[in-house]
Amino acid sequence: MNICVYCSSSNNLTANYYAAARELGIAMAQHRWPLIYGGGSVGLMGEIARAVHEYHGYVVGVIPQALLDREVGYHASDELIVTETMRQRKQTMDDRADAFVTLPGGFGTLEELLEIITHRQLGYHDKPIIIVNLNNFYDPLLQQFEEIFAQQFTDQRHRRLYQVVEDVPAAVTALQQALAG
Ligand code: AMP
Repeated sequence: MNICVYCSSSNNLTANYYAAARELGIAMAQHRWPLIYGGGSVGLMGEIARAVHEYHGYVVGVIPQALLDREVGYHASDELIVTETMRQRKQTMDDRADAFVTLPGGFGTLEELLEIITHRQLGYHDKPIIIVNLNNFYDPLLQQFEEIFAQQFTDQRHRRLYQVVEDVPAAVTALQQALAG
């Protein structure tokens, strides 16, 4: 099962976020789940990729040329797929993945998460999407989702589009269940 992970590119977070990214990377390597991700060497992205490698897992980085030119690419990736645009990059990541996991992140991560949820809502794919609400980071976003349901901006049945878990072990359990189902 190829897992696409969306996560922060920031190097300025508190230590617990890097620890969680590392924990997820180790678990993925141990389960033989290749990592599909944005190909960066910075922030949680770099942390998870290095952890996967440390435990002999497989890393597929997908990065646009412009970001690679800024020398933020993780060149140790087993496959480093260089795309022309950001949009092609996301498409490639989405195509290669069997499931999506979102760790805490900024605008880039949010954009990726919301797009992949939207695509599932519209029927472009039916792959599991797991939001890891570490440290309750995503509570305000989840509250906004509740507002969307409450005011009927979307249908209640779309609650199934994503699953929220509190930590990395719960994310791994959710992925195992997705794999079994
Ligand atoms: P952000 O949450 O704003 O830090 O953006 C992180 C997300 O956007 C990641 O999941 C990546 O796919 C993409 N991204 C942002 N910055 C980079 C970078 N320097 N290198 C590669 N991908 C990046």
